[in-house]
Amino acid sequence: MEKHLTTDFTEACFLVDLSNVVRNQHLGEPGARSLRRLSLLVDAAKALARDPDVKLYLVADASLRRGGRREFTDPADIRLLGRWVDRGLVEELPDADPRLLELCAYTGIPVISGDRFRGHRDEHPWIQGNTDDFLEAVPASGRTVRLVPVDMGVARAVDMSRKHEEDVLKKMGLLDGRRTPRFDIVGRNWRCEERRCTLYDTRKGSAALLPRVVGGVPRCQNHGTALVDDGPRRATVQLKLLVEGELKGRFTLEDGTLVRVGRAPGEGGITLHGLVPDHLTGGLSRSHVELRVTGGIVHVSDHSTYGTQWRSGPGPWQPLGPAGRQYRGGDELQLTEGVVLSRSGRRFPTELAQDWQRRQPPPPEATAETRLY
Ligand SMILES: [Zn+2]
Repeated sequence: MEKHLTTDFTEACFLVDLSNVVRNQHLGEPGARSLRRLSLLVDAAKALARDPDVKLYLVADASLRRGGRREFTDPADIRLLGRWVDRGLVEELPDADPRLLELCAYTGIPVISGDRFRGHRDEHPWIQGNTDDFLEAVPASGRTVRLVPVDMGVARAVDMSRKHEEDVLKKMGLLDGRRTPRFDIVGRNWRCEERRCTLYDTRKGSAALLPRVVGGVPRCQNHGTALVDDGPRRATVQLKLLVEGELKGRFTLEDGTLVRVGRAPGEGGITLHGLVPDHLTGGLSRSHVELRVTGGIVHVSDHSTYGTQWRSGPGPWQPLGPAGRQYRGGDELQLTEGVVLSRSGRRFPTELAQDWQRRQPPPPEATAETRLY
């Protein structure tokens, strides 16, 4: 199970509200608390991401371990959980909820939880009406677990105006002078000046936590001191090649590159010959699609003879065309029947900023209001 756990947000495919999953008695077996439910969740995450190496970022309430020794079906679970916390494979906090929401807001990684976070909508107005960022584990046939998207709905008790929302974001130090969230934090590496602290170190630590911003400054969670900017975090896009539903290859593209993908695209390209079985290569062109990564945006265009199909998530396939389009996290390209190129969910800071704009709930007086910014 350990190989599926990480607290490095650049690797994580899903954020998990661990206490919520471990305590969910609808999953797997009876008993108040069980880690067996997490292994069922890992299987569901593998299936949904179509990735046998899928990584989960677990956030746990401290009370899960300390408060409930008699509640675990298997007492060995508590020791295992303790080892994971010590090794930095689980982030344990007095209250997991604010951290899960903060990580989701910053990184765009979806949260797996049965919680609707109604008490947090004042601080995180983007949860209102959200249908993209939350998944719930539900029981499926044969004692398995399935992940389903959650419509968070609009909590009516919360009456928000844009003014109120801005006040809250300002208070949290998350808005800069131009009223843009601090996505710059995600694009940098950070280091704690405390010499033995490796919480944020991408070279020494296994964790590389995303810092919390206090008073506009990213700070160490353990030491409270300001973190030092340690240079840009290398921005990459991950692609997965799926042949007839099975993962056959992974590729990484760096920002500022142009890469062609096809049967034999030539130097610097991604060659699919040898990865795609002979009976499927007929529909593949030598150079099939072109991917251009510029300023944190990925653009894809069709260069093939027989055409390429594009879709976003579970949406319908649509022709890509030679002019192409933006290729976002979660999008898929069907090069030919049975050969799909998918982009893993991780997004660039530029894309996160775009998503943040999309998430803004319209202010109630939007129609009458003259926007001043
Ligand atoms: Zn520190």
